[in-house]
Amino acid sequence: MNSRPCLILFGPPGSGKGTQAKLLRQILGMAHISTGDMLRERVARANDDPGDELGRAVANVMQSGALVSDELVNRMVEDRIAQPDAANGFILDGYPRTVAQAELLDCVLRREHIRAVVIHLKVDYNVIIARLSGRRQCPNCGALYSLSPNSPAVSEVCDYDGSRLIVRDDDREEVVVERLKAYDLQTAPVLAFLRGAGYPCYDVQGEGRAPQAIAREIEELLHKEFASDEIERRPEGAPGQA
Ligand code: ADP
Repeated sequence: MNSRPCLILFGPPGSGKGTQAKLLRQILGMAHISTGDMLRERVARANDDPGDELGRAVANVMQSGALVSDELVNRMVEDRIAQPDAANGFILDGYPRTVAQAELLDCVLRREHIRAVVIHLKVDYNVIIARLSGRRQCPNCGALYSLSPNSPAVSEVCDYDGSRLIVRDDDREEVVVERLKAYDLQTAPVLAFLRGAGYPCYDVQGEGRAPQAIAREIEELLHKEFASDEIERRPEGAPGQA
């Protein structure tokens, strides 16, 4: 069967969903849909507009480590999936994060005849806490770095645009603990829901090897699930989609 593919990257905060999504977007040319990035853009717009109460409310929720409302996130994702760059397939990073989100996604996927595969990135929580507290972000372009193995060429400076790196507000250890609690309570049950709804789900070890090696394993799993004309490898070095 021929349909546009959807890859659902699933896993706790700091499991490497964003890193894998960026690598796979470049390799496979699928759109990268990150609800975390979309919400951060929403908050950045609110900072320029004092009347934007919704934006400020979103910022407060994110800074506490809790989840933003299903209604807002579902609306954002449904609009994003309809954009032209998602027509060749898309990678969901950080969505669905609640069973209510998974129910909406399931309806959209069935309605649009989109086939989805779930990749569950497994990482020990102690590794996650160490990773996130050592993480830095470029405030300008959003690039993420860690103390290792993805450290910037010049300490504390973005490789892409030279901005001074910052610690993301929600990467402080006390907020990370809240994010992991939200994951256990609200997000972990989503995997059972997706399995029960018939989506193929694969566990992939998300630690102890290079991100490129993890991306290769995911790519092989996708090739098992999709025909070669549904996911096509881009020529080496071809630009990814924004
Ligand atoms: P991480 O996966 O490392 O926690 P993200 O950038 O995906 O980082 O998410 C950051 C924050 O954005 C979350 O803690 C949450 O407040 C909010 N968020 C992101 N995606 C969702 C979602 N699907 N539903 C609700 N809130 C979300």
